[in-house]
Amino acid sequence: MTPGTVLLEAQHVTQRFRLPNGQNLEALRDVSLAVREQEVVALVGPSGCGKSTLLRLFAGLARPVEGKVLYRGQSLDGVLGAAAMVFQSFALLPWLTVAENVAMGLEARGVYGPARRDAVARAINLVGLDGFEQAYPKELSGGMKQRVGFARALAVAPEILLMDEPFGALDPLTAENLRSQVVDLWRDPATGVNTLVIVTHSVEEAVFLAGRIVVFGSNPGHVREEMTNPLPYPRQERSPEFEEMVDRLHAILTATLLPEPAPAAPQRLVPFPRVHVSEVTGLLDHLLTRPDGKGPVFELAEDLGVDYDRMSAVVRAAEQLGWVTTPGEIVQLTAAGREVMAMDDAARKDVTRARLAKQPLFARLVAMLKEGEGAVEDEEVLADLTIYFPFIPAESLFATLVEWGRYAELVDHDADAGRLMLLGWEGAAEARVE
Ligand code: ADP
Repeated sequence: MTPGTVLLEAQHVTQRFRLPNGQNLEALRDVSLAVREQEVVALVGPSGCGKSTLLRLFAGLARPVEGKVLYRGQSLDGVLGAAAMVFQSFALLPWLTVAENVAMGLEARGVYGPARRDAVARAINLVGLDGFEQAYPKELSGGMKQRVGFARALAVAPEILLMDEPFGALDPLTAENLRSQVVDLWRDPATGVNTLVIVTHSVEEAVFLAGRIVVFGSNPGHVREEMTNPLPYPRQERSPEFEEMVDRLHAILTATLLPEPAPAAPQRLVPFPRVHVSEVTGLLDHLLTRPDGKGPVFELAEDLGVDYDRMSAVVRAAEQLGWVTTPGEIVQLTAAGREVMAMDDAARKDVTRARLAKQPLFARLVAMLKEGEGAVEDEEVLADLTIYFPFIPAESLFATLVEWGRYAELVDHDADAGRLMLLGWEGAAEARVE
């Protein structure tokens, strides 16, 4: 699709907020950005660099203190009717049904009667929630709640969909699914939506969705770099071309976060889900009791009394360790998963250690420890994690690494000294402290 007329434009926009202590915080400085018809633009960059602020300015929910925001060349005056917003928090009213939540935007625009009913039914159908019209938000999974969020935005048939981390609160499987559907909605002329602006923390998500990716820098927020992404839709997440785009964007982001001179772009790492060892063994234990050692994620979540998102994180950890596979929404115990559960405690730890050593993040930790002749300061690891995973709280990820590393007798941690130690990796079996 060739981008057309400029729809939205920020011209030299500066935005400041007055903080409770009386000081001013400059969230954006001199930002100029145009969004054209038919485009999908992703705004990425470190937390706090003003991406959401710009999105709200585009929506007409706030006015800039300097500069202008234009829609089709006209200064915005109040909330922009041509746009609808989708939020990470879903922003559903718990006391309203799905249909009533979807109707909210229409109500605000004075659409009543049969026209409203039709628009609600159509939007609910578009996001695949037929049959759930009378359900309440608390009866829905995270993914379904966000479908309601999308339906509410789509009901008003907006020309522009502004999305603020719409998949951020969802588990990866659901997010992937919903992402593809958003591309379909955008490509389907019947929805009326022809332009998307999305704020995202995920490099993969930006590359999957956007034709243009705008990288922000902070202090104060400014546009740092733009990257065009010519890959044809629908995009194949695991293709080499896709991976190459992801690497390019990752390199730009890393350079944004690091002081000059920027070192060579580090390799891409996979974070380890922040779950406890006992949760993973609990999942495997439970799968053993089920026919064929398998079951859908939501059922497992229900059986084990945890929420869906938590269950998904546990499943991803088990998957990274090779103990389950996840064809579709089904979680299937692998042969290795059965074997590890049949082992005694010591053997189980040995196997876990060997598996962790192959997980890229643990492999990197071990490499750092070897470089440090067997020990490294917590601070150093935390700094490393912050660079690789700017959007995951480093302390919490660190605590997970320590828990798993200790369990598998791969590392030990001295909290008082703030140091991590490598337990004799080469001859791990002998070095193990019983
Ligand atoms: P991002 O979306 O890139 O994470 P935001 O646009 O949410 O960044 O925020 C940019 C900066 O402006 C942050 O420091 C944030 O705390 C501040 N900020 C945003 N909205 C307000 C507000 N209404 N009042 C005060 N500070 C705000």
